[in-house]
Amino acid sequence: MLRVDGKTSQIDHVVVSNYGIFVIETKNYKGWILGDEHGESWTQVIYKRKEKFFNPIRQNYGHIQALKQNLQEYSELNYVPIIVFSIDADLKVKTNAKVIYSVKLLKTIREFAAETITEQQKEEIYAKLLALNVRDKEVRTQHVEGIHKKKAEVTNQVSANICPKCGGELITRKGKYGDFKGCKNYPKCRFTITN
Ligand SMILES: [Zn+2]
Repeated sequence: MLRVDGKTSQIDHVVVSNYGIFVIETKNYKGWILGDEHGESWTQVIYKRKEKFFNPIRQNYGHIQALKQNLQEYSELNYVPIIVFSIDADLKVKTNAKVIYSVKLLKTIREFAAETITEQQKEEIYAKLLALNVRDKEVRTQHVEGIHKKKAEVTNQVSANICPKCGGELITRKGKYGDFKGCKNYPKCRFTITN
């Protein structure tokens, strides 16, 4: 996960080698996969259902831009985008880009036989990417902070007698086990909370 312009870009896999920087996007989808190089979205057809998803070639292009921005001092690097689907998918994609099945990944990488990156550059880039990688811990902290914020919002709404689920009024009711607050819109809204 790299930071770019205050946002984060999450890359599935990066292979730093003497033959180029391979940027790999993996998709574990089943069914027919239809799409082309430039369209906004691709389509998965499974059990007669159609689901759209963001064109992974474009998604991976974004990942390469994120890498380039973070590795600006190496202007000559050759980046190789590869989109990998599991063998459960049935690829019907119209493109010359590398959109392959997982079993072909190693073969695809090995087709690049020209050394374009020196041993020293390779080690440097590898170390730099490791250092730039946003560790899960930080992201988890942000995520947890988000959850705490949500809990605080709910507490505020409840103390103001506003139902956090539907925005209706909360009224105090007597229950078997003591008083509780319930939504006035019951039974449409079943939000309750004990005092
Ligand atoms: Zn409610």
